[in-house]
Amino acid sequence: KLYRPPHPVDWCPGCGDFGILSSLQRALAELGLLPHQVAVFGGIGCSGKAPYYVSSYGVHTLHGRVLPYAQGAKLANPELTVVAVGGDGDGLGIGAAHFVNAGRRNIDMTYILFNNEVYGLTKGQAAPTMPLGMQTKALPEPNMQNKINSLMLALTSGFTWIGRGYAYNVKQLVKLMQEAIQHPGLSYLEVLQPCPTYNNIHTKEWYNGEDLGHPRVYDVQEEGYDPVIPEGADEETINAKMLAFMQKANEWGDRIPTGILLQNRAIPTYEERISQKIPSYRSNPPAVRDVRDENGYSQVDLSPFYEELAI
Ligand code: SF4
Ligand code: MG
Repeated sequence: KLYRPPHPVDWCPGCGDFGILSSLQRALAELGLLPHQVAVFGGIGCSGKAPYYVSSYGVHTLHGRVLPYAQGAKLANPELTVVAVGGDGDGLGIGAAHFVNAGRRNIDMTYILFNNEVYGLTKGQAAPTMPLGMQTKALPEPNMQNKINSLMLALTSGFTWIGRGYAYNVKQLVKLMQEAIQHPGLSYLEVLQPCPTYNNIHTKEWYNGEDLGHPRVYDVQEEGYDPVIPEGADEETINAKMLAFMQKANEWGDRIPTGILLQNRAIPTYEERISQKIPSYRSNPPAVRDVRDENGYSQVDLSPFYEELAI
C-alpha cells in the first residue's frame, strides 16, 4: 500500500503491465525502502506512465532518454534507489545507444524493460523485440526485421546483473526486482509482458504453453543454474559463465528461461571509480552541496547564459 498511488491506473484491462507494477510496489515496500528514498524514471510508451503509479519520487522523461536521466539522478545523489523503466521500443529503438553506454558505466541502479514486442501506445507497430516474420493483428504484413536479443546486448554492453521475469509470475518478479535493486552495479531485468490489445500471438495463453501442455516460461534457478561470476574470477571461469549465459539467452520457443541469468561481481561500480578520483564524492555528492552564498543567493554565475540570450 505504501507505494500505491491515490489515482487510478489507465492501462487496458488484462495488460501485463499491472503485474509488473504491483511487483515493483511490493518489491520496494518489502525491501524496507521509504518512498522518499526511491526515484522511478519512465520513458515513453504505456510503460512510461509507471512513475505516476508508484508513490515515490519520479519523472516521466523523454522518448528513449530514460537511462541518461536516471543515471544523472543517481550520480548526483548516490544514496537514492533509482529504478528506470521503459518499453522495448523506447529502450532498444531510439534509446539503444543509451542502453549500450549505460552498460559500459555500471552505475548502481536498475533498468526494467517491459517487453511486449509492440509499440502499444501508438497502436501496435512492430517493436525491436518482435521476431522476424511475426504478424500480429495490427500489422498489414509480417515483420520484415529481425529482433534484438536484449539479454545478449546487455551482456556485451557490460550490465553486471541480467535477469528475465514474466509479468504474470508476480511472486518470482518481486524476488527478481529485489535482487536487481540490491545488486551493487547496473542491473537489467527484461519482463515478458503480454499486450492483450495488440499482440495476439505471444499471449498469456502462449506463454502458459496451452498448445504444448506445459508452460513455456520456466525458472532457471529451479533447474540449478548458477549465474554468479565471483569477485576476482579467472578468465576460464568468466568464459564458462558467459557461455552458459549465452545458451540461456538464446533459448526461445517451446522453453523460455526466466530468473537470474548473470550476476557479475568482478567489475567495480562507476561510483567506486569516481570515489577513487574524488574521495569526497560519497560524503558530499552534488545533490547535497549548498549552492547559496551567505545572503542566500545562488553562487552560480548565470550572466554568460543571459548575455547569450540577450537580443
Ligand atoms: Fe497494455 Fe498493450 Fe494496452 Fe499498452 S496497449 S496498456 S501494453 S494492453
Ligand atoms: Mg513495447
